[in-house]
Amino acid sequence: MYQVTSPKAEDFINHEEILDTLAYAEKNKNNIELINQILEKARLRKGLSHREALVLLDCDIPEKNQEIFQLAEQIKKDFYGNRIVMFAPLYLSNYCVNGCVYCPYHTTNTHIVRKKLTQEEIRREVIALQDMGHKRLALETGEDPVNNPIEYVLESIKTIYSIKHKNGAIRRVNVNIAATTVENYRKLKDAGIGTYILFQETYHKESYEKLHPTGPKHDYAYHTEAMDRAMEGGIDDVGIGVLFGLELYRYEFAGLLMHAEHLEAVYGVGPHTISVPRIRRADDIDPDTFDNGIDDDTFAKLVACIRISVPYTGMIVSTRESQKCRERLLHLGVSQISGGSRTSVGGYVEPELPEDNSAQFDVSDTRSLDEVVNWLMKSGYIPSFCTACYREGRTGDRFMSLCKSGQIQNCCHPNALMTLQEYLEDYASTDTKAIGEQLIRQEIHNVPNEKVREIVLKNLEQIKQGQRDFRF
Ligand code: SF4
Repeated sequence: MYQVTSPKAEDFINHEEILDTLAYAEKNKNNIELINQILEKARLRKGLSHREALVLLDCDIPEKNQEIFQLAEQIKKDFYGNRIVMFAPLYLSNYCVNGCVYCPYHTTNTHIVRKKLTQEEIRREVIALQDMGHKRLALETGEDPVNNPIEYVLESIKTIYSIKHKNGAIRRVNVNIAATTVENYRKLKDAGIGTYILFQETYHKESYEKLHPTGPKHDYAYHTEAMDRAMEGGIDDVGIGVLFGLELYRYEFAGLLMHAEHLEAVYGVGPHTISVPRIRRADDIDPDTFDNGIDDDTFAKLVACIRISVPYTGMIVSTRESQKCRERLLHLGVSQISGGSRTSVGGYVEPELPEDNSAQFDVSDTRSLDEVVNWLMKSGYIPSFCTACYREGRTGDRFMSLCKSGQIQNCCHPNALMTLQEYLEDYASTDTKAIGEQLIRQEIHNVPNEKVREIVLKNLEQIKQGQRDFRF
């Protein structure tokens, strides 16, 4: 039975409730009166239930879809302005004991090159990332208690935070590792991680079990309840997501929102981020063998409907997607993107040779970070390297209340400008620097408070003179 506050996965991601929701949305997808009511509610910017959201996702009335896209764009602007947060993944190890059929790291892949970075190799990777200008990383490892135990992850986090190369520093380490115990989540929290990220892959239990035939990840309940254990362990910023293409996207969309509702109902704070990866080609993975792939138009609608349904949750799109696709999604709700990513173990120091195939997926957007920053600014966005909320302890419900009240604009916009200035001084190409300086000059007028504007101007001047010890 569906119970949003139940600790059991099969209650809060209840299969019958999802089937009822799918039927309800199918029946009402042309119900203009209901769609208008839902859009009215969405305009209040307090979110939608999974049922309401699915009606919008299914709606096929062109003028209403137009309204949905416009509202998503407006909500994106209201909550996030024109800032886009930048990050990069860092793959530590591709040893894995699971049998996930969509990932080349699965245990039965005997020809993939297995690698695990030593602390010295991590140091070199981090220096390479700092030299690009990155300040925020997402750590990735396969699940392997022997090769990648929690102690290895903790030691790696310590190494990463300790490296200060020239003006570089990694200020926020997000972690994407397998579902684990409350005790291990507590250790990750104590190590100072930012967000704990774990993709559900699919919310459909039967498909989940088939797609994860072997290994600890086979346990649907243990995986689905991971965020509850993370919260219990003190991690209040969690990132959820599904791998689109594995199951019917409508089912996944309902499950994703039910998961967000569960976290909000039980812990008073929904997910910090939602990621929307689609299956990509990799070593022995052919995306065409999966039946549920979604086209770019459906994907865009999905992103717009997530934006409307959970307005205060950040949305992430990685380099799995092409420049063109990312451009469209940025308008509709995406607030965080990766740039200059390498998806192989050790790939920042030594780009992979064709015969070394340790990448988790083929990257679509292969541009450098500088090219991505340059492109974002030319498209009217402010690339932000800010990590201030995390560094000031504004996580979980403290971050959410700031976000929900709209107050976030007063700190995020100035911080985005100041961290962009740091990037321009330390890492940008001549062209990017010129574009960035002009953008900052224009954007400074949009800092709402005169006093804050004065502080920003002073800080920008200090950054130009080499000062770097701000709490961004
Ligand atoms: S998705 Fe994760 S758990 Fe599954 S095989 Fe890949 S690395 Fe291992």
